[in-house]
Amino acid sequence: MRLVTFRTGNDNRHQLGVISDAGDEVVTISGSYLSAPESMLDLIAGAPESLRRIGANAAHLPSRYPLKGVQLLAPIARPRRNIFCIGKNYRDHVNEVGTALPDTASKGDNIPTSPVVFTKATNSVTGPDSEIPSWLDTSDSTDYEGELAVVIGKGGRGIDVADAMNHVFGYTIVNDVTARRMQKQHGQWFLGKSLDGYCPMGPMIVTADEIPDVAALQLQTRVNGELRQDGSVADLIFAIPELIATLSHGMTLEPGDVIATGTPAGVGMGFDPHRFLQPGDVVEITIDPIGTLRNTVA
Ligand code: MG
Repeated sequence: MRLVTFRTGNDNRHQLGVISDAGDEVVTISGSYLSAPESMLDLIAGAPESLRRIGANAAHLPSRYPLKGVQLLAPIARPRRNIFCIGKNYRDHVNEVGTALPDTASKGDNIPTSPVVFTKATNSVTGPDSEIPSWLDTSDSTDYEGELAVVIGKGGRGIDVADAMNHVFGYTIVNDVTARRMQKQHGQWFLGKSLDGYCPMGPMIVTADEIPDVAALQLQTRVNGELRQDGSVADLIFAIPELIATLSHGMTLEPGDVIATGTPAGVGMGFDPHRFLQPGDVVEITIDPIGTLRNTVA
């Protein structure tokens, strides 16, 4: 199932929808039938029963809009807590940033020996087609990081690697936009990665049942149409089950938590000279079958 949060026309209400089988319409879920979920977080917390009900009611849901006629928002437009992120989780990306970000345990090769975890504040979350406000970055070093993101369904603590995929609700795309000089200046990554609008998310959540082999996914990032990142999820240093086990070791994961799994090589910082984003640039991150997350830099 392909799930979106959207709004229409001048109506500021956030609506929950499912993309039609043909892919050209959004079908409204919220308010459509008794006990229909009102938000993506409600839907996720109620899964799998909520998904079964949507399927059972799909043919009778009354409101449909052409996909091109709605404004898609981040599928989880208002996360309950910070976005969990994994740093330095693709070998080629670790190599391209070299010792620029050396503050992680390694065996001397800068390859992390345990997952590097940080978070992005909830205010950073923004939707597809929204602008990335790079003018907030007075260090003038805004960079993109295309990433596959995992959405947690069933929460828990002490989740085993073997059981971890049973806790995945679905997948979306995140652009872990980063103010590089702030990231370095403050001795940790939080500030430089939490500026307003620095976490575009979307365009939709694809439920896990539609992606049986997540390692087969390919991620591509384009800036103004130029291919910058071309990675395979199979190349993650720490795979998704290990990330879930690590995060939940002593901390309870909750339904709707989002884990951005890391970015492959090709970020602006990896070029010499650096190729940071400029106002007017268009960043597009594509992961089939999730789609393309497109944002313009302001
Ligand atoms: Mg990242």
